[in-house]
Amino acid sequence: MTAPAIERTASAVASAAPTESAIGIQDLTVRYGSVTALEGLTLEVARGETVALLGPSGSGKSTALKAVAGFLRPASGRITLAGRDVTYEPPNKRGIGVVVQNYALFPHMRVADNVAFGLRARRVSRAEVGRRVTEALDMVGMAGYARRYPRELSGGQQQRVAIARALAIRPPVLLLDEPLSALDATLRADLLGELQRLRGELPDVAIMYVTHDQTEALALADRIAVMRDARLVDLDATDRLYRRPPSEFTASFLGAANLLDARVLADCTAADDAVRVAVGGLTVAADPTGAFAEGARALLVARPHTLAVTEVDRADTLPARLVATQWRGADYRLTCVLEGDGEREIRIDVTDLAAVPALGERLGVALPAEPCVLVPAGAGG
Ligand code: ADP
Repeated sequence: MTAPAIERTASAVASAAPTESAIGIQDLTVRYGSVTALEGLTLEVARGETVALLGPSGSGKSTALKAVAGFLRPASGRITLAGRDVTYEPPNKRGIGVVVQNYALFPHMRVADNVAFGLRARRVSRAEVGRRVTEALDMVGMAGYARRYPRELSGGQQQRVAIARALAIRPPVLLLDEPLSALDATLRADLLGELQRLRGELPDVAIMYVTHDQTEALALADRIAVMRDARLVDLDATDRLYRRPPSEFTASFLGAANLLDARVLADCTAADDAVRVAVGGLTVAADPTGAFAEGARALLVARPHTLAVTEVDRADTLPARLVATQWRGADYRLTCVLEGDGEREIRIDVTDLAAVPALGERLGVALPAEPCVLVPAGAGG
């Protein structure tokens, strides 16, 4: 997350009183027949803020977005836009811009007509429609494509048009549902950069961004709401959630952390800077995310790039055996099994490796000098 994004979050949050949040979701439950797709979601998005709903497939993210858009009716709960209750209002009365995964452009309409669609439905004057279409296409770098048909565009270009169409009505709220997932890796990276730039041009728009891809959430969101099994698991500012994930699930879903079994050696609370824990044969300082009792089992969160490998049997390292090596261009990813820790695999990303160790070789795994975050074992995992 970049520094400007952090500043923007602070100002967005400061300028929005809770009742005036651009999007308010209170205790929202949605069912499809007997399936509860979303259970008791409460979430607010401030003006100018981007909140990502991040979670595995089927966790209820799209359902939340569709409820805000007005595409489905909740079983219970309330949705407000700028303080106005819209829970049972039809989508076209909500004034929201929506972008979905597979573009959903009208195939028989030219680009300009696709972008103009929402404006004409609102009976905006012809001259104003022309101005707004040009403005919206300019914003997504598609000014030269107004007369093309969707089939004459690449997937990335079609998605830019879909974004322009959503922006043309100048909505205070923009909902994006996996907007990059139909694109190949290069286009996805391009359009992600484009969305970051666009975010800067829309300082007052509240954005709800549904994704299963942590890269997109980390790049775009001021806050991330982690979803699992129809429920909100954790919600916090993006950098804080990455640096101090409060649960096993969020630690492993956001940033692919290693989770090392640890035993807490003294009572502690989240307010403590550090607590001693036993990990393998080592005693190290950890950063507690909650209260732990002496003797409790917990998990130490260690990101792959913060671990290092050394020669085996050094006093301050955990003995391990190498089971896989993957060269990834910028670094090596070593997969090891810690000795005495069952079959739990840990991943270590190293950039400077004098010699690639052989598979089966014993190594020492060094923990980072900074205390690792400590999360409860099993809760949310
Ligand atoms: P996500 O966006 O996180 O992938 P969804 O919100 O699409 O998840 O789905 C949440 C749950 O609701 C899943 O179990 C999914 O199978 C179910 N679901 C989604 N849409 C429907 C539908 N139209 N009818 C029945 N079940 C659905």
